[in-house]
This record gives sequence, structure tokens and C-alpha cells, in this order.
Amino acid sequence: MHLLCGIREILIVAIDKLSHPTLNPPAAAKPEISTPNIIVLCGTLIALVMMGLCALVLYQGRVDALDRARDTSRNLALLAERDIERNFELYELSLQAVVEGVERPEVAALPPALRNDVLFDRAATARDLGSLLVLDANGTIVIDSSSVTPRKGNFADRSYFTVQRDNPNAGLYISSPFSSRLRGGAPSIALSRRLKNPDGSFAGIAMITINLDYFRTLFAGLSLGRHGAVSLISKDGLMIMRQPFDSHVIGRDIRGADTFRRFQNAPEGSFSETSSIDGTRRLYFYRNFPNLPLIIMVAEAEEDIYAAWTRRAIIIGSSMGALAIGFITLSFVLAAQFRRRIRAESELQLLARTDGLTGLHNRRTLGEILDQEWRRARRTRSLFSLLFVDIDRFKAYNDAYGHQAGDDALAAVARCIGENIRRPLDTAARYGGEEFVVVLPDTPAEGAARVAETIRKAISDLSIEHAGSEFGRVTASIGLASWRPERDDDVSALIRAADEALYDAKARGRNRVMRASPG
Ligand code: GH3
Ligand code: MG
Ligand code: MG
Repeated sequence: MHLLCGIREILIVAIDKLSHPTLNPPAAAKPEISTPNIIVLCGTLIALVMMGLCALVLYQGRVDALDRARDTSRNLALLAERDIERNFELYELSLQAVVEGVERPEVAALPPALRNDVLFDRAATARDLGSLLVLDANGTIVIDSSSVTPRKGNFADRSYFTVQRDNPNAGLYISSPFSSRLRGGAPSIALSRRLKNPDGSFAGIAMITINLDYFRTLFAGLSLGRHGAVSLISKDGLMIMRQPFDSHVIGRDIRGADTFRRFQNAPEGSFSETSSIDGTRRLYFYRNFPNLPLIIMVAEAEEDIYAAWTRRAIIIGSSMGALAIGFITLSFVLAAQFRRRIRAESELQLLARTDGLTGLHNRRTLGEILDQEWRRARRTRSLFSLLFVDIDRFKAYNDAYGHQAGDDALAAVARCIGENIRRPLDTAARYGGEEFVVVLPDTPAEGAARVAETIRKAISDLSIEHAGSEFGRVTASIGLASWRPERDDDVSALIRAADEALYDAKARGRNRVMRASPG
């Protein structure tokens, strides 16, 4: 529909131009957007909108990928946290049972084998548990879950012992990682509780060691992409376990690291940061355990998070880019064809409306212009003038100089007429043979007479030799008629009047301008 309107507009402009060819340039050239340009503009705009929508969808996909990764990290952290908390709760209950048992004199009085059965339930034999031990006030093993005769050992130097000894209110203590001396250096952490004498003084500790392999196995089962990582960190900043596993990292103090400081800001949260170690940008998700002095951190590399998205974005983005380029190219091709067609049509129209020999409007066009200008003059009640120009003794010219020379003289006279009408609405046309009509809308008789005289003089001044003429050169006679059209007046009456004036000019000796008598 839009296109059709555009075509119509172009045709109107073209016809307007044709109705006033080169001789009559348009009054003021207003800037206009041609239909081919609109096609290119629309094509480019549609391509840009397509690209924009595609970019929007891809961007949303990227945001979704990050959200999904954050959810996955959170779920993994929660699962690991629940597993660890549940196990720790069981260990703590076992430890609590030992503390309560040891502090009862009747249990302490039992034979060692029976006492061990009473103190240590089956939980003490769980896969990743080390020994459940009772140490005396000097740190020496007095009761051992793994044998009736306690193994030899003193752990007065370990933090899980000193903390309980020095602080009656330490409660459950979770140690930093250490190498177990009883189990050949296996990396472990310990949970300890204070034992007290009836008078409240320090009687030793009950402790349980947990093999760090428990965390390692737990984390190894989590899938986090090629560059992902899971870490369990104590609240005082010691690395307890990290996946991918590196024995050098276990026990490392990361209190000074920026990331660790962020972990302390909120119970849980996420942030993206570039690792200073490997330069990989990761999405970190952390959670502070609600009931244990531990922090779990799940980090997924953005490279892994966006891997699928990147592949998709490249395929969709490049296809859409190619499509957009194709679309724009197509609109350019279409616009070029459209331009060619418009040009061909206007050339055709120009041919149909122009007189081939003189380049002036032909008789058909003259009819249209006359009709249009006459109606306008009737509407505006303005004076309308018309000149009838006829070359003098042209038959004789043809006879004397030949038809070709006659044609040349005709063209020269036509050019001369065209050059001497200057106002935009003034129009010259070939009426037929060696006769021309000049339409002068909104022009009073005096003005029209001046134009007619100028034309007459200009033709004479061409000085085209014409021996058969009384003036010795090619001249023309001009009949002029002026009229202020009334409602029912017809333009043919004006033509007739101008024609009669022309005959009058011929009769009075030619090479002159005669006005039709008023009325
Ligand atoms: P008058 O001064 O009374 O107008 O005499 P005239 O000879 O010009 O008038 P007439 O109407 O008798 O002759 C017109 C001539 O114009 C006839 C023809 O030889 C010539 N003529 C008409 N059309 C053409 C044309 O296209 N080419 C050429 N070369 N001559 C033409
Ligand atoms: Mg004639
Ligand atoms: Mg003539």
C-alpha cells in the first residue's frame, strides 16, 4: 500500500515535470524522498530490526545462562552443605555420647572392652572417620575406639587439645587440617569437646578425626565444567578441601584474599571475578554454613558457563548477519531496478508528450495544459492569455530551400519561442505544421503583447535567410487573445479569437503581433 502511494507520488512528480519540460523548470525544488530510497531505507531498517531482535534474544540467552549457572552452583553448594552438616551432626552426637559416658563414674569403672562398646556406637566405624579418642589432661590417649588397649600417643600440641584446655567454653571445636600421626599422615580434621572433672576442672578431651578424603570424594562427584572449582574453607580462612584437588592448597591461609573477605559479607552470595592465579574469570557462589564454622564456595568459569551459548551465538549471529546483508543487498537491487523502470517510464512519457522535431509539447499535451490552466484561471478569476504563432510564407521557404532546411528553421524558431517565455507556468507547444501556441496563464493582454513582441523580434533576429519573403528572412506573425474566463466559457473560443487575430496579422502584412478585439 505504502509502495503504491510512493509510486503514485513519483508518477505525479514525473508528470508534473513532463508538463513543464526543461523550458519551464518547477517553481521551487522541494526535497523529496524517492521510492527507491524508501525501499533501501525500509530494507536496511528491517535488517537492522532483525539484527537488533536477534542480538536481544542472544543477550537474553547469555543472561539466562549466567542465571542457570548461579542456580546450579547454589544447588550444588546446598547439596554438599546438607551432606556435610548431616554427617557432622552424627559425629557430634557420637562425640556427645562419649563425653557424657566418660563423665559417668559407673561407665569409667567398666572393663575396657565393655566400656568401649558402651561409649562408641557403630557410627565410629563409618568409612571416612578416623579414631574416636579420649585424651587425658596431659594429651595422652586413654580410650581408643579402634582398640581395647589404646594406641600410644600424645596430642597435647594439637590445637583441638589446647583450645579445649585453655577455654572451658570452647564447645565443639573444629580443627584446621593436619596430618594424622596415628594414620600415617592422612590429611584430616578433628572435632573435639572438653571433658571436665566433677569439680569442673579440665579432665582432657573427647575427639573424633575425619579423613579429608570424605570431602574429596564428595566434591569429586560434582560436575562443574573443565575450569570449575569447589572449596571448603574454615571461617578463620584455612582451606580444608578444594576440587580440583591439590595437596599444596590444603591448609593454606587465604584470610588475605579479596574473595575471602567477600565471603564474610553475607550468609550467601555470588560475584564474578578474574582469578589472579590463572587469569580465568569465574562466577563465584558462596554459602556460610548456618551451624558450622565452614564456608563452601562453588566457582564456575564463565568460559564453561557460556560455552554452549557462544556456539549458538556464533551460528545464529552469523546466519542472521548473512541474512541481513542479503536483505539489504536485495533492497538495493530492487531499488536499482525500480529506478531503471521509473527512468524508462518517464522517458517513454516524455516521448509521448513531446514533439519530436522541435522538443516542445505536442498537441495532445497542449490540450491537457490548456484544459488545466483554463480551469485554474476560471477558479482564480485571473486573466488568461494565448499566442498563436505562425511562420510567414513557410511553404515558399520549403519550396526554395528544401524540406530539411525547413525542418531546421522550424526547430530554430521553436527554440527561439521556448527561450523567450520565462515564467514557470508559461508553456509553448507545437500546434501543427509551422504553427505554435504559447499559453500564458495569469497574464494580462499588455504583458502577453510584450512577450509576443519579444518572440516576434527574436525570430526575426535569427536572420534565417528567406528570399521568398518580403522581409528577406524568416519571420512569424502572432495572434494574441486575452480572456478572464467566466463559469461556462470554453477555451476553444479563446483559441479561435487568437487564430482570428493571427489572420488579421497576416492580412496586415505579416511579421507583426495583432490582438483579438475585446469581447
Ligand atoms: P502564410 O504566411 O500565410 O502562413 O503562408 P505559409 O506558406 O506559411 O502557409 P501555408 O499554410 O500555406 O503553408 C504551411 C507550410 O508549412 C506547408 C508546409 O510546406 C510547411 N510545413 C508544415 N509542417 C512542416 C514540417 O514539419 N516541416 C517542414 N519542413 N515544413 C512544414
Ligand atoms: Mg500555417
Ligand atoms: Mg504560415
